Amino acid sequence: MSPDDKLFHELIEQNSFGMIVTDLEGRITYVNTRRIESSGYCAEEMIGSKPSIFQSGLTSSATYQEMWLSILGGRPWKGEILNKRKNGEIVRESLLIQALLDEEGQVSGFSAIIDESFALRENHREQRTSIFDSLTGLPSLPSMLERLGSLLRGFQPETKGFTLLSIDIDGFQRFNDSLGRLVTDRVLIEVAARIQASIRRGDTVGRVDGDEFMVVLQGEHADTKASLETAARLLKAIAAPILIETHQVTLTASIGITGFPGDGTDAETLLGNAVAAMLAAKQEGGNQYCLFNPAMREKALGRLTMSAELRRDIERNDLALMFQPKVSLLSGEITGFEALVRWNHPERGLIEPRHFIAVAEETGLIVPLSEWVLRTALSQIKAWQDEGLNRVQISVNLSVRNLYQIDLPRLLTTLLADIGVDAPYLELELGESAMMRDALQSIRIVDRLRALGVQLSLDGFGTGYSSLAHLSRFEVSRLKIDRLFIEDITSNPVNASIVSAMIAMGHTLGKKLVAMGVESEAQMNFLRRQGCDEMQGFFFSKPCTAEEAAVMVREGKHLHFEADTEETELPTLLLVDDEPYILNSLKRLLRRENYRVLTATSGPEALEILALNPVRVVISDQRMPEMSGIELLSKVKSLYPDTVRIILSGYSELATVTDAINRGAVWKYLTKPWDDETLKEEVRKAFSV
Ligand code: C2E
Ligand code: CA
Repeated sequence: MSPDDKLFHELIEQNSFGMIVTDLEGRITYVNTRRIESSGYCAEEMIGSKPSIFQSGLTSSATYQEMWLSILGGRPWKGEILNKRKNGEIVRESLLIQALLDEEGQVSGFSAIIDESFALRENHREQRTSIFDSLTGLPSLPSMLERLGSLLRGFQPETKGFTLLSIDIDGFQRFNDSLGRLVTDRVLIEVAARIQASIRRGDTVGRVDGDEFMVVLQGEHADTKASLETAARLLKAIAAPILIETHQVTLTASIGITGFPGDGTDAETLLGNAVAAMLAAKQEGGNQYCLFNPAMREKALGRLTMSAELRRDIERNDLALMFQPKVSLLSGEITGFEALVRWNHPERGLIEPRHFIAVAEETGLIVPLSEWVLRTALSQIKAWQDEGLNRVQISVNLSVRNLYQIDLPRLLTTLLADIGVDAPYLELELGESAMMRDALQSIRIVDRLRALGVQLSLDGFGTGYSSLAHLSRFEVSRLKIDRLFIEDITSNPVNASIVSAMIAMGHTLGKKLVAMGVESEAQMNFLRRQGCDEMQGFFFSKPCTAEEAAVMVREGKHLHFEADTEETELPTLLLVDDEPYILNSLKRLLRRENYRVLTATSGPEALEILALNPVRVVISDQRMPEMSGIELLSKVKSLYPDTVRIILSGYSELATVTDAINRGAVWKYLTKPWDDETLKEEVRKAFSV
């Protein structure tokens, strides 16, 4: 042992705090002398056991739940627990528990530092006797634990096991804050009564903490099918409106279900399972039940490992930025780049943000991550400027956590000054839904950021329900229309009209509109025609490296607008029919009339062509497999009201078509087979409407 190691060893052994280390499964691998002395157990008894040997059954399961949520979320947990010595004495201990990382940054176990200096034994004798919860009259946590213990002890392999349900009311805290203690107490009494009425004789319910109940189902009732039926009955009973004087309250709950002996054989594991499953039900949106599966624990552990690795890799600079160009729909030129972060994981390679941004936000790692992105993006702007590529703007995505970071403006000022970039070259993208969570506060933050001189844009526009009033007060210069609306813009009249309304509204407020996720020429042309200012998407370029981005700027890569060429000067006609020979003969006939004739064999193809070309007259067959002629022409009417629309049908379907004619979707109905001269005459008329 080196002198340093010796010192370190003594420090730990002679410490006045107890110390325990466990492996990933929670088995004790190390205890220091202090803990051996105070607990009354010898080292051999403790090594290999779980810390549950110290449990008194008097600490609320909410405390354990909070503890695990914190530790699994990558944060150390500090709190108090009522533990038991070997001789049965109860002691209140103050603990600091955290995950231990190995050299690779992987979670290898957990450590606890225990301060047992205050022993408040008096209170606990009192608590121990409280077998029933004074509010609801149901068994309390200690008696439920005792019940579990006796079931476990009395278990015989030939008898049936039991099922444990953890029931937790959704959003109870919010409800508690708004209605006050008196009302919530009466609600809890009612919920307790409903739970009791929903279970069968022989089963037990207890109130284990605040709004958390535990149910034990036994015998036949513990079969999976019967347990699920009980869970469904409980959800229904809890969700029925509760009337307390003048208040009508409607609640939902989440239920986690775990079985003995299938899922675990000790009380601690079973309780942990039930809570993990209940949390999974909450994550799915609440008002449902989830059966425990080991993946739920693994998922929590997986997130923990991920956050530890991310923390390590941010420090090691193992992140990368990709750049996706934004282009003007007027000039076709590049107007800037959006910086998109990637995690360069040593084993898993490049990881996309959708896999880690949420974890980074939950654990607070988004703060150092965003700082890295800002610093790297600004250094890139500076490097390009030094190479003579002036006027390249980069935008950076910020998350809610960053917005509410008090020192964000100061951080930005320092970074801009240190790196030597003028503020307007940086744009910050703020998510619309995040901003709308607290619109007034967001307006203040936006104003502070604007004062620095940076550009701002509202990301995911259309998904966050901005009101016009708020929108006009957000000092952002660009609104980025979410990809969701653009995806089917050429075939979905609803999204098409939403987008054109967004563009009109944005322009009225003096903002520029940027369409996200543009993947085809048809989408681009549609947006151009609607007056959209800029676009971003795979059609022009995928996100690329800084070197590739620089080449694009240097070589002046830009958009080409095909639809502006000469040929479009001719009056254009679109023929739609699923029979190619009909298309051909019509085409031959009408070409001679000096029209530019386009053809499509289906409705979707026709919409694609319409988005790409200015068409005046559309002639469509009625009977087509994917989309009928009337359906197509109704969409065309909403998307392109200036077109003249004709149905050409081989069947006498006047009845179906009349309605469409009355709604104005169809201008004329012609029958097949047609007379060449009549058809030519009708088309001529159509062009002069
Ligand atoms: P976003 O802000 O909406 O960014 C655009 C995303 O759409 C990018 O995904 C981009 O690759 C993708 N995209 C662009 N054009 C197209 C297209 O034509 N078709 C399709 N299907 N997708 C397209 P990416 O890079 O995976 O980023 C996903 C999200 O992660 C971003 O969505 C942004 O919200 C977030 N994000 C990325 N980088 C950062 C960052 O540095 N900080 C923060 N807080 N969030 C970031
Ligand atoms: Ca963005």
